[in-house]
Amino acid sequence: MSKKTSFDITVLPGDGIGVEITPVCIELIEKVLTKLDADVSINFTTFEAGAAYYQKTGISLPEEALAHAQQSDATLLACMGLPSIRYPDGREIAPQLELREKLDLYAGVRPVKTMPGLPLPLADERGSQLDFVMIRESTEGLFSSRESFRIEGQGQDEAAYDTQKISRRGCERLFNFAFKMAEQRKQKGKQGLVTCIDKANVLGSFYYMRQVFDEVAQHYPHLEADHIYVDACALQLVRQPWAYDVMVTENMFGDILSDLCAGLMGGMGMAPSGDIGENSAVFQPCHGSAPDIIGQGKANPTAMFLSAALMLEWLGYQHQNQAMLDAANKINQVVEAAYATGDLLPYELGGSDGTVAISSKVFAML
Ligand code: ATP
Ligand code: MG
Repeated sequence: MSKKTSFDITVLPGDGIGVEITPVCIELIEKVLTKLDADVSINFTTFEAGAAYYQKTGISLPEEALAHAQQSDATLLACMGLPSIRYPDGREIAPQLELREKLDLYAGVRPVKTMPGLPLPLADERGSQLDFVMIRESTEGLFSSRESFRIEGQGQDEAAYDTQKISRRGCERLFNFAFKMAEQRKQKGKQGLVTCIDKANVLGSFYYMRQVFDEVAQHYPHLEADHIYVDACALQLVRQPWAYDVMVTENMFGDILSDLCAGLMGGMGMAPSGDIGENSAVFQPCHGSAPDIIGQGKANPTAMFLSAALMLEWLGYQHQNQAMLDAANKINQVVEAAYATGDLLPYELGGSDGTVAISSKVFAML
């Protein structure tokens, strides 16, 4: 275990409800470290960035913020973008995408863990909670085709093309990441199963991806490896999501399926995520800035709390630091305990608990 005792975190509250849920999240992390009498300190440096900042300054992600994110141990981001503020070419302001690109964050991790005490769209027939992880490749696939997009031909022959890129390097690092995560989870009693989601029966690039997956799987003989076609996967995620442990897929499939996964957890306000690269990582709730509820106190901070836990866990593994792993566990524990009381029902789920009610309940569990 390492002796690193000080960690630097870049904080980007961003837009909309981001500025409402960030302060309570930082407060939770600080309270947890104090409670555990942890042998570490965290220095948070906050930067303005996003759509509102762009409107004020003409810059969406200041150089200092990017440089800090590149040098710090991790970045905690809430949400960015507002529908009414756009770049002159009409694109949404999304510096989180720029960060993903600049920091080469190739693995989008979306843990799917349901909370005891919440009404959920699908309950496990065996009465237990869902607990699996969806990992999405975040640098290539069809989404990397911005460079390859072209329109050819004329009149009735005109056609638009996007090209899907699936590289050996991209696959290998992604699949190794997935198997390592399954290893960590197996140590905590999970199945040790990695399921690759593809469409290898129709597209050659996915057949290639499946072959690389099988090659990588051979290096992890103590773990199970399986494949599923994306269409069958959509069915299974509704019929028996509890059958999975670690799922891994290409960028666009992951984009679509991870929203389905947020639905399984009871809404966007419950779903955390981490975008992870070789040396940097950005952690953020899956939801956007939710312009419809800004300033009403309705924002659910749970996804942000769970993203913070994911960040501390990643730092713990990355630096072999037990204090960070303990702090991550503690956050997960108190959030679960708060929901397990059965007293919390967020607005999104038809209840009347917002930022203050949810964070107070979580703090009370410390
Ligand atoms: P994006 O453009 O990134 O999809 P968005 O603003 O549309 O962002 P979503 O995350 O898609 O936001 O969320 C859709 C709706 O779900 C929001 O408009 C809001 O009503 C609700 N919602 C999202 N996150 C939360 C949250 N943390 N707490 C409460 N409600 C939320
Ligand atoms: Mg949306």
